[in-house]
Amino acid sequence: MQYFKTSNTNPDKKTCLLCSYYCDLKEGQIGICGVNKNTGEKIECLVYGHISAFNIDPIEKKPLYHFLPNSKSLSLGTVGCNFHCNFCQNHGISQEKKIDKSNYISAKDVAQIAKQRLCKSISYTYNEPTIFYPFAKDIAIEAKKFGIKSVFVSNGFESKEIIDDMVGVIDAINVDLKSFNHKYYKSNLGGNLDQVLSNLIRLKKNKIWLEITTLLVPSKNDSEEEIRKIVKFIKDNLGVNTPWHISAFHPDYKELNLPRTSFEKLKMAYDIAKNEGLLYVYIGNIGFPNNTYCPKCNTKLISREYFNVLDNKLTSSFCPECNSKIDGIFEGE
Ligand code: SF4
Repeated sequence: MQYFKTSNTNPDKKTCLLCSYYCDLKEGQIGICGVNKNTGEKIECLVYGHISAFNIDPIEKKPLYHFLPNSKSLSLGTVGCNFHCNFCQNHGISQEKKIDKSNYISAKDVAQIAKQRLCKSISYTYNEPTIFYPFAKDIAIEAKKFGIKSVFVSNGFESKEIIDDMVGVIDAINVDLKSFNHKYYKSNLGGNLDQVLSNLIRLKKNKIWLEITTLLVPSKNDSEEEIRKIVKFIKDNLGVNTPWHISAFHPDYKELNLPRTSFEKLKMAYDIAKNEGLLYVYIGNIGFPNNTYCPKCNTKLISREYFNVLDNKLTSSFCPECNSKIDGIFEGE
């Protein structure tokens, strides 16, 4: 796909199609993310090939618990972001605008490294991958040649064009549903809640494996009412088989005066979700047992401690005890 078009309102401008801001840029102008620029000929992704972080992580760290469990994921990010969250744990790269052009790596080389290091997937993470989708897609296409899958860790503010283009390119995504409060999205994060919600539905319809994370930030998004709204949205629109990761906040970046999320709050959210019927609910960052159970016969299928898988009974997507289908993408698929 072409990642830009001529602006509908001004033929001298170009519209970036990478995320739902649809920045209209005149020549020389850079969008909200700080890394896509109208160069006159086109909108160029300035971070193409210029990564700022490169690691091999367990896939559980994304977090994805129902996608190739206990496998390694080559994880990379660039600089820049289209959101500006006050508590960003990766603000050193996400809010950085300076691009280190000295460290170029090609899409082919990234895929080759993933193959050499026996990674089952490549994760586009650390900063918002939508803003460097042209690079991510080229890597994903190279990786597919080796049978390596691709994963987005995202704020869910992609454009609808990108979500449709992801089909057959990006296999799984973890989206941060950061709040259920329109004002909070607008004033503290970026984007807007309604767009994120409709994107979640579109991702699900496009059959990209979807897991959701909510970082519970004390006094910002952790009221019982708001948690109930998040759970109800997941249940009614995405299905009870969508894994929900509830994550504990720790003070970071501009939110240094807030306390850590209490275990009681995390457990309250967990209990609400389980009582509403969500099948796969996990509490992250605090060492709570994060096991996956068969929703039908309750057999413990995967035992985890933090990001480590201690035991995995799932050698296919079927429960070895009762043969029920377990939701997700597992070995051999
Ligand atoms: S990626 Fe989003 S924020 Fe960046 S220029 Fe494109 S539309 Fe604007």
